[in-house]
Order: sequence, then C-alpha cells, then structure tokens
Amino acid sequence: MPALTSLSLYLHIPFCRHRCAYCDFNTYTSLGDLKEAYALALVREIRQVGGQAGRRAHTIFFGGGTPSLMPPALLAHLLQAIRDNFELAAGAEITLEANPDTVDSDYLAAIRALGANRLSFGAQSAVANELVLLEREHDFATVVRAVAMARAAGFDNLNLDFIYGLPGQSLASWEYTLRQALALAPDHLSLYCLTIEPGTPMERWLKNGRIQPPDPDLAADQYELAGELLAGYGFVHYEISNWARPGRECAHNLTYWHNDEYLGLGAGAHGHAAGYRYYVVKQPRVYIRRMESGDGDHYPWSAAVAEKHQLSRAEAMTDTVITQLRLLQEGLDLAAFTARFGQSLYDAYPETTQQLVAYGLLCEENGRLRLTQRGRFLSNQVFYRFL
Ligand code: SF4
Repeated sequence: MPALTSLSLYLHIPFCRHRCAYCDFNTYTSLGDLKEAYALALVREIRQVGGQAGRRAHTIFFGGGTPSLMPPALLAHLLQAIRDNFELAAGAEITLEANPDTVDSDYLAAIRALGANRLSFGAQSAVANELVLLEREHDFATVVRAVAMARAAGFDNLNLDFIYGLPGQSLASWEYTLRQALALAPDHLSLYCLTIEPGTPMERWLKNGRIQPPDPDLAADQYELAGELLAGYGFVHYEISNWARPGRECAHNLTYWHNDEYLGLGAGAHGHAAGYRYYVVKQPRVYIRRMESGDGDHYPWSAAVAEKHQLSRAEAMTDTVITQLRLLQEGLDLAAFTARFGQSLYDAYPETTQQLVAYGLLCEENGRLRLTQRGRFLSNQVFYRFL
C-alpha cells in the first residue's frame, strides 16, 4: 500500500456572540443553541472523511467564528473523534482560535488538558478607540489577562492577531499597539492589513462618510515599522503577514503555504485534497441536516460538500507558486517544484519569472526563489503575474 501523505485538519466553528464591524467570515450570532447538534454533525463528518484508512494528520486548527465559545465537553468529543478516525502524529499542533473575553482560567486549563497546545487570540489593537471602531467586545486589559491565564494553564505557544491600516490609526498608535503586544512576549504574531469587505458595517460607514478610507502609503509604513521592530525582538518574518520566534512558525498554516493537503470540516470550510479544491455548505442548519442524512466513507469530502473543483495541472502549479512565494525565508524550492510537476518553474513561466527577477521583485538564491524586500510590498502584483 503506498504511503499516505499526512494531512492538516481545519474545523470551522461558526458562532460568535457579536459581529465585528469589519467581519465577513462565515459566522452567526443567533445560532448558539445549535452548538451541540453542530458538534455531533462534525463528529459524523470526521468519521466520513477519516474512516478506516488510517489517514495521518499532523495539525488540527479550530477556526471561526469563535471556537472558544465551544464548551470543553464538545471539543473533547471532536478531538476524540479525530483520534479515533485518524492517525494523529505525536506532538501534533492543535490550535484553537479564541476571543480574549470568552476564556477564563478553568476553560483554558480544560482545553489544555484535552490536548490543545496552541492558542491564537484575536487581540486586534491595544488602543481603546480602535477596538471600539472595530466593534470588538474586549479591551486590551482583557487581552493581557487572557495571555497570563493561558501561560498559567501551560500554553507555551501563543499567537496574537492585530490589524493595521485602520481608518484614523496613526503610525504612533500602531507602534504603541506593537510595543504593547511585544510586552506580552507572544511566540507568534499575525499582522493583517484591514480590508473593508462588501456588506460589512465598515463599508457602509465608508460610503456615508463616517470613516475615511485607509491610506495605503501609511499602511505600507506601518508594515515596514512592524518588520523593523519585530526583528529587533528576535521574530522571524517568515510569511507576508506572519512573524514567529524561531521554531514557532504555525505548522497548520505552513500546510496552506506549501500548497499541501488539508481537509476542511464544518460549515463553509474549504479543503484541498486528492487533486481537488472543495467547500462545505455555509449555513450551519443546512450543514447539520446534510450530515444527519449522509453516511459511509466519503474521503476527501463529506456528504455536506457544496462544490468541488478538480485542479488542472496548470492551476496546481499556479497555486504552488503563489502560496510558496508567501514564505519569505523559505521561498519556493525550485528542485521540489520540478519534482512535483515534472517541469521547472522557468519552463512553466519563462517570461513572467525572468521579468520579475529583472524588475527586482523576485530573486533566486541557493535553489530557491523568494520575494525581494521590494517584492514584499508589491506581492499581490507579483502573484497576479502568475495567474
Ligand atoms: S470575533 Fe472574529 S469571526 Fe467573530 S465577528 Fe468578530 S471578526 Fe468575525
């Protein structure tokens, strides 16, 4: 029997107490009473895609929504179902996204005891009026307390998420947020530039003049400042929006950036396996119904899959280039690319690659192609050229 590749597992938890002003994620504020039925549906889905084949998994990521709204007893069911239906690697990274205002010491101790070994707190800003603008429900003191409780519960791998490029956010206020974040000694920082998504309250505010559009030049300065400041604290800028202490890179997200296989479980989750990309139905009630009616081994997707697309070789190559170039240190391994697709990158994209190297946006070194410093600021344009 051929060796089975190891997968990553993403489980989507689509519940929030309140919808933040910038959020367009698949999450719901009025479906909290579905948590138990939803967890049972997820258990069925885990059985369907894991099954008897002894498929291996090396990371589990509970994303949302707000996974920390799930009671430990339900998370225990989910983790047990994964252990029963997958061969989980020793030391597998198990991440839970958490809102700082939803956890206490007992909760964190309980999920640590279940095997969760990485927490990702949505902190977003250390500045009170920015948290109000984002309509977050916590203040920064709550983040400080949550981090202390997480450390006391035994979590030695903590990520904090922050957002820059906010309307009205100065370079000084961003520096203040970064310094407050660094004072908490996180292991990993994810720093995202705000995107104002269609249909969100923020988009309405922009249209009616309540907020000013973010200034892209200021956002670029904020990004540069983050890079300089975090390097001074020993963080490695390993992916466009992510910094880690050495050895604390997010193993789950590395699966995405290596364009490797992962299974997406739960309402609206996306997956990539067996040469397909697919996504699961978005509505939690529909998801639960679909999972109640389906059974049997459906690998790689369950009875709740909404749509699947078989990737052509050209699409798989493009996805690999675009995801791997996001890795700023590792870059794209040219020999591995040739081994994967039977064609070198330079043969697959002769003009594009040469031009981007000539423009100083990409550089090749030791068999790897990477974004240059300039290329990092123009990464979207670089990726667009491979589409
Ligand atoms: S907590 Fe996260 S998922 Fe929930 S509404 Fe806010 S941004 Fe969206």
